[in-house]
Amino acid sequence: MYYIINNRQSRNIRISSAVIPAEAGIQRLSCRLQSHLPKKRRVMGTYRIAEVCQNGHVSTSSADLYPDLREKFCSKCGENTMMQCPSCRKPIRGYYDSDFVTVICDYHPPAYCHQCGTPFPWTSRKITNAVALVEYSDVQLTPDEIQQFRSDVTDLTKDSPNNPISSLRIKKVLAKVGPLIASGVKDILTSVMTEAAKKLLLGG
Ligand SMILES: [Zn+2]
Ligand SMILES: [Zn+2]
Repeated sequence: MYYIINNRQSRNIRISSAVIPAEAGIQRLSCRLQSHLPKKRRVMGTYRIAEVCQNGHVSTSSADLYPDLREKFCSKCGENTMMQCPSCRKPIRGYYDSDFVTVICDYHPPAYCHQCGTPFPWTSRKITNAVALVEYSDVQLTPDEIQQFRSDVTDLTKDSPNNPISSLRIKKVLAKVGPLIASGVKDILTSVMTEAAKKLLLGG
């Protein structure tokens, strides 16, 4: 994988390794690169504030820096947008920024509030929709099976030691309900599962 960084002279430098000189005057680098930096070269920064709609569409990952990008209603789905956790009012974390380093990566809104642990509306909605889709199947699942499915799907939205067993149980349910509903469930969950959970459930 290649990363592109810009130094103060605005020259683009392509590198293929996580080793970069701290004195390079780097303004931007990949988030993966940041995580590989030796501790003494890491820089402290701050999270920008993201604006996200109820369905998880991001209007901007830096609403505080670029207020012009804000949307009162989501331009993708028409839902109202938010910049704070509905439970504790803490700002939603956007991209990570510092005077020295700007992290560039595909921004995905967090599934849970980092302050109070409450799932954001887009997380809850996707879990609810995945369960509803399975309930819609011609295959009758018992209330206990539905409850277990909901718990397993919720588990895949977070890094948890239960991920492997949860994904196995979900796969069993998806095999029962047929390919059409299974595919719908996977589509719904793709944007809210952790990367590790995606690998377990979807492979790759
Ligand atoms: Zn939206
Ligand atoms: Zn909160």
